[in-house]
Amino acid sequence: MEIKLDQVKGIGPSMLRILRNHGLWSTYDLVLNYPKRYEDFSITSLDRTQDKETITTHATIISELKLNRYGKTGFVSFKVKILDKTIDVIAFGKAYLIKSFSKDEEVIIKGVYHLFKRQIHASSVIKLDKKVPLKPIYGIEGIHDKTMMNVMETIFQNDQVSIYETIPKEFLDKYKLLNRKNAYQMLHLPKTIEEIHQAERRFKYEEAFYLQLRLQSKQQVHFIRPPKTYDIDRVRALIGTIPFELTADQKEAVNDIFRDFKKEYASYRLIQGDVGSGKTMVALIASYAVITAGEQVSLMAPTELLANQHYQYFKSLMKDTNIALLTSKTKNKSQLKEDVLNGKIDLLIGTHALIENDVQFKNLGLVIIDEQHKFGVNTRDELILKSNSKDVIYLTATPIPRTLAMIAFGDSHVSVIKEKPKHRILIETKYITKDRVQEMYDLMHSAILRKEHIFLVVPAITSEHVTDNIERVYEEIKNEFSAPIFVLHGKLPYEEKEGVMEKFIYTPGSILLSTTMIEVGIDIPTATFIGIYAAESFGLSQLHQLRGRVGRGNLPSFCYLVSTKEDVERLELLSKTSDGFQLSEYDLIARGPGDFLGVQQSGYLKFDFLDLVTDYPILIEAQKNVSSLLLKPDFKTNSMYKHLHKFVLESLKI
Ligand code: ADP
Ligand code: MG
Repeated sequence: MEIKLDQVKGIGPSMLRILRNHGLWSTYDLVLNYPKRYEDFSITSLDRTQDKETITTHATIISELKLNRYGKTGFVSFKVKILDKTIDVIAFGKAYLIKSFSKDEEVIIKGVYHLFKRQIHASSVIKLDKKVPLKPIYGIEGIHDKTMMNVMETIFQNDQVSIYETIPKEFLDKYKLLNRKNAYQMLHLPKTIEEIHQAERRFKYEEAFYLQLRLQSKQQVHFIRPPKTYDIDRVRALIGTIPFELTADQKEAVNDIFRDFKKEYASYRLIQGDVGSGKTMVALIASYAVITAGEQVSLMAPTELLANQHYQYFKSLMKDTNIALLTSKTKNKSQLKEDVLNGKIDLLIGTHALIENDVQFKNLGLVIIDEQHKFGVNTRDELILKSNSKDVIYLTATPIPRTLAMIAFGDSHVSVIKEKPKHRILIETKYITKDRVQEMYDLMHSAILRKEHIFLVVPAITSEHVTDNIERVYEEIKNEFSAPIFVLHGKLPYEEKEGVMEKFIYTPGSILLSTTMIEVGIDIPTATFIGIYAAESFGLSQLHQLRGRVGRGNLPSFCYLVSTKEDVERLELLSKTSDGFQLSEYDLIARGPGDFLGVQQSGYLKFDFLDLVTDYPILIEAQKNVSSLLLKPDFKTNSMYKHLHKFVLESLKI
């Protein structure tokens, strides 16, 4: 039952007009348009609060107040709870607070929020006046919040709206979650802060549940296939010919994969490893095993150069197999495609050319996707669909924060390679402001004399807004250096890009000026210097990834970051750590989850209530629940799950 708003008591013609202008036509629309804040202090907004933003918020003191010595006046510190979050509060020069407040008291705090320390530096702490009711703030121009409140009261009291439940009862019961209708009522007309909290808890779960439903319905774990009968002796023999010892993490990842192969259903696995951690070798061993089981393998890489590099690498190590390369440049494609279809080719390496319709396999048993985040979800799926067994391994050098990886792939489907092969040297990382760029140029001059390779990275090709663009920097450096300068960016035709890259590789002592194109896994052992302009415009993970382009041989290497003064704190982190995972956690907090999973276009990860960082436990519960639900024999037939099953089918189409 949905009621048009002109039939609701208390809504006059002018209010009706305003509501319609906001796209609100029915009582149900009004229910979904819940208040964003309450009273004059925010309740929900810590998730959306930026670093160093001033906030006024309700809080409950949960520790004793402590006076700390510092300077003349000292500071008071204590812990508070703001909804479900525990935050440290620090108040300078307010020793009197010790006497005015104690544990369990409810207060209103005004201060500056320090996101990364999870701290508030308070400028005022006052008692919460209990007599003031919680007033929702809708912020619709021309309508008093009080009027909105009355209308909502009418709607709920007269039962003028139907709100269906969307979460199976078993899970509502399990976590004592409010039903959907009550939850909305409490968001609109809360009597206590606890009611708002409970309502939010329900909606957080709902968002987590549907995220999981969408993600898991796309995964192929529910595809039954026989265990792979690989020849372990031949695999061992191959490992014996590798010119180095595998790292412990590489061995672990290989074991994870072999365990997957032995199962009775298709596997999907994410291999996460920092640049240079040796993921290719893991993929190689996995491929070989599948080939010994009499199945074909396909490896897709995001660039021609990378596909080519893999092709050479695999061919040099897997001598008793038939390996072929398929890219847009491949000659005599039709013969190759025939060989693939007839099963003469064991391993087909290529670019996105692999997903073309007329590339068909005889018995594709494993798909490997290198630098998986470079491909859209659909491209990846298209290759997987060509496979008989639907097994897939994703490789990624962008460390995805542990939490996100678990959420997206599930706990048992992620292998992490942290340890790097021993000979790797540390890359000296330095940040400078623009006025000191000569310091960087001096180092570049010596690298050129040593016939090493240099990368210079800028955020844009040409732009009025970005001064550090290719055009300007090119003008600047062409006077400074007599060495060859190559220019690479996304607008060049495909062929030309590859050509530029090749020329650069074969010209020792040259400079490549580029946009972030060079991010992806190219191995140039004599690349020893990378300078990144406008470093403030890149995330730490991305900077780290770019930095990984150098220091791949045994030569001392440098990464120079040209940035603004304000960026110093962040970049210092980069110079101190070479742990990509740590940096990715920082990015997740500072910039949100958008860049990591390659699904941001689809809006998967936009939530009203859920915070991917702090609500991790909820996400993990939802993950387990959805997984158990999808494995239920009656999931597709039981009318109780009808709306969920429909959602799964629709997800598959996206
Ligand atoms: P990435 O994880 O970035 O894809 P690669 O697989 O390209 O890294 O490996 C980088 C280099 O390290 C390659 O030259 C590879 O042969 C080498 N390598 C891989 N594993 C080891 C190891 N265990 N010991 C020494 N070198 C290794
Ligand atoms: Mg790689």
